[in-house]
Amino acid sequence: MKKVILIHYHEISLKRNNRNWFESRLHRHVRALLSDIPHAGIERSSGRMLIRLQPQSPVAQITERLRGTFGIANFAVAREVPADIQAIRSAVSELAMERPFGSFRISARRGTKNFPMNSQQINEDLGRLVQDLTGAAVRLEASEFVIHVEIAGASCYLYLEKIPGGGGLPAGTGGSVTCLMSGGIDSPVAAYRMMRRGCRVHFVHFHSFPHTTLESQEKVRRILAVLARYQLRCKVHFVPFADLQREIVAYAPPPLRILLYRRFMLRIAEALALKEKSLGLVTGDSLGQVASQTLENLRVTSAVAALPVFRPLIGSDKEEIVQSARAIGTYEISILPDEDCCTMFVPKHPEIMARTDQVEKAESALDVTRLVHSCLDAAVKETIRPGFASAPPGSL
Ligand code: ATP
Ligand code: MG
Repeated sequence: MKKVILIHYHEISLKRNNRNWFESRLHRHVRALLSDIPHAGIERSSGRMLIRLQPQSPVAQITERLRGTFGIANFAVAREVPADIQAIRSAVSELAMERPFGSFRISARRGTKNFPMNSQQINEDLGRLVQDLTGAAVRLEASEFVIHVEIAGASCYLYLEKIPGGGGLPAGTGGSVTCLMSGGIDSPVAAYRMMRRGCRVHFVHFHSFPHTTLESQEKVRRILAVLARYQLRCKVHFVPFADLQREIVAYAPPPLRILLYRRFMLRIAEALALKEKSLGLVTGDSLGQVASQTLENLRVTSAVAALPVFRPLIGSDKEEIVQSARAIGTYEISILPDEDCCTMFVPKHPEIMARTDQVEKAESALDVTRLVHSCLDAAVKETIRPGFASAPPGSL
């Protein structure tokens, strides 16, 4: 009997012609994710993935890493035996004697139809066996224990617990996008949503250092160490924004300031996105959340970019976004106090329903190309590696 981790795919199983490609991407990702952890190989077999364990393999650490992995519906720490009823019976007996329980059920799944018994017959056979051994009652609803018996090819996998994976599509299957990352609550969740659809996400952060502290950049690094758990590396451009803001403050009407900041952010992010071969931009906007996120203002902002601007949180309210941020693990970092660049020179009465012609007129007082280029010239690129509870950033 061997100990393995049995992985069930999420949406990949719905793919027809390119299923193999999706599987191979997930395989590559899991190999990289576990590159510093001892195991005895990662295989694809019968529509599943198997991680073969060594006696010294740290199961808790592997579980921690697989939990959030996209493309995985669920996984289990399982025993592997030959698909032979005698071998299955003896392994089930051993499993049933591991801890006491009052009720149970057997959940058999037969991937290969050439096994001589069908699922119902396996359930009944093993059910009787466990009942005789332990005296526990078979209960189909709300049983204390479920013994999963999964026959796939020449092997049978037995396990008690299914652990949920991250769902969605495997990392790197959806092309790349560039996310404007503020360090607040929303943009990390927006990035996560795009990653979960298979996108590789690159990042741009605008800061006003030295007029504000270094805190916002440090927060972004910490948030990206969390997000890198899902894609293993996060590339980020830190862009100094204070000089540009100063010009906007000097030459543009105060109610339009924030909108002009946003339009410049998008222009600069788009230039960086094109360098990274991204196919779209991502922001954490949620409709109506603040003045800059009314439909009119979002339209005026998006107008400067030729790339599509994806806003995965557009229909979510703050409560839902906060819940997601907590689940992802970015919330506690996002709420740390910092001085965001947009807190500099905030007008008392921002425009709520800007028109494009009005904003273009305000911008005509500025040398847009020069301002964009000087920000691009001053941008600094970094790569952030994942931080897991059991392994600090940099170890992978
Ligand atoms: P967040 O929680 O993501 O900061 P928010 O509710 O504070 O969002 P805004 O400050 O209006 O909203 O920002 C809207 C979006 O603009 C952000 O989600 C982010 O995508 C982008 N953005 C704002 N500030 C910055 C910044 N300093 N650097 C990069 N992107 C930014
Ligand atoms: Mg913000």
